[in-house]
Amino acid sequence: MFTNVSTLRRMSINSRPNFYDVLISGGGMIGSSMALALGKSPLFTDRKIALVEAGPKKVRKNDSEQYSNRVSAINPSSKRLFHELGVWKRFRRYQTVKDMRVWGSYTADTINYAQGSDSDDDIAYIIENDEIVDAVMEELNGCSNVDVFYKSNLNKVDMGPKSVNVQINSEQSCECKLLIGADGANSQVRKIMDTNYLSYGYDQTAIVATLNIMEKQNNTAWQRFLPTGPIALLPLNSTTCSLVWSTSHDEAKVLLSLTPHGFVDAINNAFNSKPVEDGTVTFLKNLLPSFSSHPKFLNECPQVIREIESSRAAFPLGFGHATNYVKPNVALIGDSAHRVHPLAGQGVNLGFRDVENLTKSLSQGLQSGRELSEYAILKQYEQLSQRANLPIMIAIDLIYRVYTSNIGLVRALGSLGIHLTETVAPIKMTMRQVASS
Ligand SMILES: Cc1cc2nc3c(=O)[nH]c(=O)nc-3n(C[C@H](O)[C@H](O)[C@H](O)COP(=O)(O)OP(=O)(O)OC[C@H]3O[C@@H](n4cnc5c(N)ncnc54)[C@H](O)[C@@H]3O)c2cc1C
Repeated sequence: MFTNVSTLRRMSINSRPNFYDVLISGGGMIGSSMALALGKSPLFTDRKIALVEAGPKKVRKNDSEQYSNRVSAINPSSKRLFHELGVWKRFRRYQTVKDMRVWGSYTADTINYAQGSDSDDDIAYIIENDEIVDAVMEELNGCSNVDVFYKSNLNKVDMGPKSVNVQINSEQSCECKLLIGADGANSQVRKIMDTNYLSYGYDQTAIVATLNIMEKQNNTAWQRFLPTGPIALLPLNSTTCSLVWSTSHDEAKVLLSLTPHGFVDAINNAFNSKPVEDGTVTFLKNLLPSFSSHPKFLNECPQVIREIESSRAAFPLGFGHATNYVKPNVALIGDSAHRVHPLAGQGVNLGFRDVENLTKSLSQGLQSGRELSEYAILKQYEQLSQRANLPIMIAIDLIYRVYTSNIGLVRALGSLGIHLTETVAPIKMTMRQVASS
């Protein structure tokens, strides 16, 4: 049998050996949540599900351990999913974001999401990626219809007309009705599916790190659009923040080579430096009197960074979208289907929406007596998810292009966008809803 089976299949499930109704490749945040959503569904009680993860089983951190430098801003929709799946109660540490401040390089105008909003709703929750996977896997232990295989890779995949045959770790074959690819941006399942994949690099690297800050109430997320890309601070607790600094590959190399002290100075400077003089922005300001009549200055500086707590890590950034999320007997979810710039903190949230949509489509199919792998059911999932994902992906790409543009007028429009968002209440409300839905 495969290596490291973490859960014993319930003996009452009487079926063919090495057969699974659903096999999920990739046990990251999205694949593990998909396994849990199906594992907990009453419609899947007598179905067999396999979760195949290339990496090893991780030991859960204890509360006092240093924060990981990989965190995600989780939006309230994803929180609802975690509640439904019984995962939310298992999170041992996270920080609620109540406000978000966004500003650029060319003016001090700032979008202040909490100000002027009569909504008490949380904007997001900052949670370590490992904490999410650990909590999901802990809950998954209670699902006896799910087998989890660690240190396991799909080696060979044969798509048949009614099922898929897979070989795992070159030693074991099994058959499944539905293969779900949750194996990330370089998805092997997507390659096997042979679907068109629109992708391009952003010529940017994101540097992440955990930072120690001067102690204070810390439930605001800060993001500044620098000419080379956005820098963001996400709150973790009263003395800790997570950094995501997206910049050119060259500047990233320099930042990675700085001493810890030099790196901290660079971050403080990136957040606190004065607006850059720009002829086109000034021209536009003078053209539109209202643009400068109520200047919004940053009434409070972001956290003062004291030191780096973790190592720095770097990730090349890109955009990717599979034209088809499904083919007969196969479906893609999460980053295997779509990849976005982290500037809006939406990537994994889109993936959680895929989990909801695929679970819904498969459940409706089973309820109407249809086969799990039926193409029409999978197509329904694809439509639901693409309709939800594409507008958000396009908006994120556009924001990236506006704020890193070399064209003065485009840069000026970006500054105008921040000003309008702050001053025109309906735009701000819409932006807040998008950020938190
Ligand atoms: C710097 C940065 C910051 C980000 N911040 C945010 C944020 O604040 N909010 C947000 O919503 N999103 C954010 N994202 C995006 C988010 O990290 C991704 O969308 C998310 O990790 C995708 O999860 P996934 O499970 O689909 O894929 P992955 O996290 O890539 O997981 C894929 C899993 O599949 C496994 N695997 C791969 N190949 C195989 C194989 N052949 N067989 C078996 N297993 C395999 C891997 O080991 C891994 O466990 C950020 C991304 C970056 C780079």
